[in-house]
Amino acid sequence: NHIDPAAGAQVRADDRAHVFHSWSAQAHIDPVPIAGAQGSWFWDYDGNRYFDLGSQMVNVNAGHGHPAIVEAICEQARILPTISPAFGNDVRGELARLIAERAPGDLDKVFFTNAGAEANEHAVRMARVVTGRSTVLSMYRSYHGASGTTIGLTGDPRRWRAEPTGGDVVRFFGPYPYRSPWATDSVEAEAAAALAHLRMVVELQGPNSIAAIIIETVIGTNGVLVPPPGYLAGVRELCDEYGIIYIADEVMVGFGRLGEWFGVNAFGVTPDLITFAKGVNSGYVPLGGVVIGSRVAQHFDDVPYPGGLTYSGHPLACAAGVASIKAFEADGVIDRVRATGEDLIRPTLSKIAANHPSVGEIRGMGFFWAIELVRNPETREGLVPFNASGPDAAPMAELIAACKAKGVWPFTHFNRIHVAPPLTTSDDELTDALAVIDEVLDLADAHVVS
Ligand code: PLP
Repeated sequence: NHIDPAAGAQVRADDRAHVFHSWSAQAHIDPVPIAGAQGSWFWDYDGNRYFDLGSQMVNVNAGHGHPAIVEAICEQARILPTISPAFGNDVRGELARLIAERAPGDLDKVFFTNAGAEANEHAVRMARVVTGRSTVLSMYRSYHGASGTTIGLTGDPRRWRAEPTGGDVVRFFGPYPYRSPWATDSVEAEAAAALAHLRMVVELQGPNSIAAIIIETVIGTNGVLVPPPGYLAGVRELCDEYGIIYIADEVMVGFGRLGEWFGVNAFGVTPDLITFAKGVNSGYVPLGGVVIGSRVAQHFDDVPYPGGLTYSGHPLACAAGVASIKAFEADGVIDRVRATGEDLIRPTLSKIAANHPSVGEIRGMGFFWAIELVRNPETREGLVPFNASGPDAAPMAELIAACKAKGVWPFTHFNRIHVAPPLTTSDDELTDALAVIDEVLDLADAHVVS
């Protein structure tokens, strides 16, 4: 650890004077200056170390400072740090091949972008051009990015203040057994009700106007909602019936988070397009993209694709992606994530749930879990209200502060703590971090009304 409070003070001063931060009222934030990071940990200039329970933005799948990825970036910088997307490039081609080999079915081509929003932006453009239709269906409780089109697709309150967003978007409800919009009492019934609802939205909206349905394979920030068995297969069938493009947004769940290279592989479905970013190279250099199936790919065999980016397939980003996939393969990371999710994380969280009346539900898979907290286990009223801020959010603020004081930096959203550490986190580190969560949940229990 590099302890240097004076350097930290300078970082804070520059930041407060000149850096304009995402999503924030600028005068009301105080970002912690970070001095360094390694593995599943990062630290500030005062010597405080934090376990990275949320992998930053659920993107640092390989952990911090992974030597093979760092070395690949350095080597690529020496060989060819950048080259126009109009040229062929070895790491760009290799990464596209490695991705196509891991994607399901006929998804065989990759359009590279710089991030997740751009990936969804282009997936929607492809769907609209190929179908000649305009409307896109997206879920309430979803996040698809902060660009013009993608904030319009987004079904969470971050969209509200960005309105008007334009675009032709209609939202629907996805399955959420714990808070079922249809008051179902089993996951099977929830899948059936959600599919009937989606069919009704499609039919009433006019199937011939719908270009695409976009779905996060497991809803990420808005709840770690794992689709019940049969739901995604039903979406695929509905899309086939009406010629609608199925876009799987795997920006958060792709590249190992769910114990699969692509999340859809766990559910046995093949979308027309998969969007990715984050975990493809753990964000060491920004990278995203669209994996393209044959229906869309063939359309653009003879018709030019109306879109491009100066940095599409940036060599530094692609070199990082190649190194990350090879390291995960060599170390058996994907299989371990799947097994550890079931053998260690699920039972530990289940015990935590049994210990704490404030835990309404735990759910997830792989290295992707939510602990949903309630004030009233009977009515399932959240520990804090939907979209709470300020004093309303105090019970969550207390929990967050207690976690940080014990050296765990949590990823929280509304009334949930998400457990999404780097996929390289050891069993001991996981056990220790979850023990901290177990301890601090006593604070949440104190708010439970019986
Ligand atoms: N889609 C999903 C599911 C995401 O979680 C995110 C980011 O959190 C995005 C899209 C947007 O990605 P980016 O922030 O890289 O633009």
